[in-house]
Amino acid sequence: MTSRIIDGKVHASTLGEKISASLPAFRAKTGRAPGLAVVLVGHDPASEVYVAAKGRMARQLGMESFEFKLAETTSQQDLLDLIARLNADDRVDGILVQLPLPGHLDTLAVISAIDPDKDVDGLHLVNAGRLASGLPGLVSCTPLGCLLMLKAELGQLSGKDAIVVGRSILVGKPMAQLLLAENCTVTIAHSRTHDLPAKVRAADIVVAAVGQPEMIRGAWIKPGATVIDVGINRIERDGRKRLVGDVEFAAAAHSAGAITPVPGGVGPMTIMSLMYNAARAAHVRKELPPPEL
Ligand code: NDP
Repeated sequence: MTSRIIDGKVHASTLGEKISASLPAFRAKTGRAPGLAVVLVGHDPASEVYVAAKGRMARQLGMESFEFKLAETTSQQDLLDLIARLNADDRVDGILVQLPLPGHLDTLAVISAIDPDKDVDGLHLVNAGRLASGLPGLVSCTPLGCLLMLKAELGQLSGKDAIVVGRSILVGKPMAQLLLAENCTVTIAHSRTHDLPAKVRAADIVVAAVGQPEMIRGAWIKPGATVIDVGINRIERDGRKRLVGDVEFAAAAHSAGAITPVPGGVGPMTIMSLMYNAARAAHVRKELPPPEL
């Protein structure tokens, strides 16, 4: 059996079209485009690449991008003052503070200062609470993108057995909540889970968000299961630098019904889900129905 490859770029482009299609009506009603503010503190090279990509993508889709690059030594108070200004700025619908922040800054305090209705990363405690309570809100971009791909691939998720390997606030926990809201029966696995292979083998849907190269072995995958690999691991093999996921892709592709590659799976959908969140936040703030998913 050879599995279908779930192409994140194709899914992202479909979502991008839906976002773009929603903008003319928004502009007609408000006289402006949705605005996304991205704040970067310091010079982490990976973060600089991500921030540039987010700004570029927002502009490509027809949204306004506001980029703030602050010195590594920025004080907590200066960062909080900037967030307060962005909260108050009506042209700014979404605020993203690129993580990780330099060590002297208090990440939870910074995220908590963002207006929850502008929190396009979905990390504010109010949005985590809304998700856990089944209320509408802004959902963390990576799990949202994974869910959209699963729904596009499988249609109904109701009644399926799902396992999420990883329980981070950024990925694992919101992913499990989203699957639960779709009426999956969800197992959340983590570093203390006993007999992970057996638990993965029982699942129709496997979401791997561990941060360990290829730790989910191909032989664990139930025939026909759908596998979403969130992991991004940089390794060196046969003298070459490579990017691999948390799933042993080549072997898993023999038994899975469908599987995301790394790169080209979850990554492109994560950034497009951020764009969706910015568009959604803009519509909700202006009491317009959010773009269709
Ligand atoms: P974290 O390090 O915050 O969480 C990792 C989770 O995996 C923890 O819950 C940990 O368990 C669990 N874990 C670690 N080792 C094992 C093990 N041997 N068996 C079972 N569970 C284990 O990572 P993130 O959730 O932030 O990210 C996960 C991966 O996804 C990373 O590779 C990251 O780079 C990638 N990522 C990719 C994104 C994308 O856009 N494609 C976006 C975000 C992340 P415990 O809680 O017990 O410690």
